[in-house]
Amino acid sequence: MQIHRPSEQRRLRIALIIGAVLVLVFMAADLVLLPSSMYELYTFDRLLLQFPIILIVVVLSFWREFMRYRAYIFAGLLIALSYSNYWLIWVCWEEHNFIFPYEGTILYAFFCVFALGIPFKLAASANVINILGFLGLMWLAPVYGDRVPISAAFVSGSLFICVYARYRLDRSVRMLKETNDRLLKLSKFDPLSDLLNRRALRDQSEKLLALSKRHDVSMAVLMLDLDDFKKYNDSFGHQQGDEAIKEQARIMKQVFKRETDILGRYGGEEFIVVLSDISKEQVEKHAQTLLDKWKLAQLKHAEGAKHPFMSCSIGVAYASKVSEISIDWLIDEADKVLYEAKEKGKAQYVVTEAQC
Ligand code: GH3
Ligand code: MG
Ligand code: MG
Repeated sequence: MQIHRPSEQRRLRIALIIGAVLVLVFMAADLVLLPSSMYELYTFDRLLLQFPIILIVVVLSFWREFMRYRAYIFAGLLIALSYSNYWLIWVCWEEHNFIFPYEGTILYAFFCVFALGIPFKLAASANVINILGFLGLMWLAPVYGDRVPISAAFVSGSLFICVYARYRLDRSVRMLKETNDRLLKLSKFDPLSDLLNRRALRDQSEKLLALSKRHDVSMAVLMLDLDDFKKYNDSFGHQQGDEAIKEQARIMKQVFKRETDILGRYGGEEFIVVLSDISKEQVEKHAQTLLDKWKLAQLKHAEGAKHPFMSCSIGVAYASKVSEISIDWLIDEADKVLYEAKEKGKAQYVVTEAQC
């Protein structure tokens, strides 16, 4: 879901108000040009048609759902303003034999598409409707005489350029966003394991701890370390070692699947899992499942390793209450019992519970 900041809604409202003021400024300039017999007709079109249409959209901009529907509203605004302009051109010619200029149509298109930000597809649809409207007008009322073909080409060409520029702009913004997302992913995730890197792990763990404190729920930190990994690397090579690291990450993702579970690579072949709102029994069950999955993987270990197949040892620090606890403390505790698991023969987990 896209989140819109209120400032964006305010910015669009200001753009609309600027548009309404511009209509008034152009009115003053047009009145200098027009014969006085047409003042009534002209002010009717500008003040009682176009100006209120813009004001309705300004009022709509206070609506809570405005940002969701804004593109359709602005496309509708563009069509309404353009057709009221066509009507003015037509009536000026029909009733007063006056040739009213068409440039306003082009200005409205550029204003709505760029200042108000109608996206490419809607901008294209609205401008096709407007081009057809202008061509229809030229067919019904060839206001510009000999200049009808060039006027039609000029309006159609300008609206086409407007839509094409919107397409290019949308494409650049999309590419920029994709690059940004990629950079954000690179800054948060470890490329080998696709788990959180150490810094992101810390940031997210701190947030989860704050939430756990607020809701007064338990937390657990699991520290995992591959067994005899140096020997594995020495026997099968670093690249094969990398595959074992990836396998560890895959197994962790299979076991810890809640949205709030935080999985990260702490360094080298050490990993951390941070869990919240979970019982000690559930944590132990998860740790055992993880060890079982390594057993099932049957990844042949190096000669001289403690176990014939690749395994890991797990230190678990569990705290049923976290009000007085820090993430560093939980990690230290998990590290201590991980050492114990190694001492006891590896491929096992050891749990310590914080006494608060
Ligand atoms: P223990 O069972 O006591 O943990 O013994 P160990 O041999 O696994 O000892 P330790 O945990 O200290 O081993 C760390 C080894 O992990 C050393 C290093 O060569 C290897 N390592 C660290 N990062 C990487 C990596 O990104 N890829 C590979 N292939 N190896 C790594
Ligand atoms: Mg290690
Ligand atoms: Mg190790």
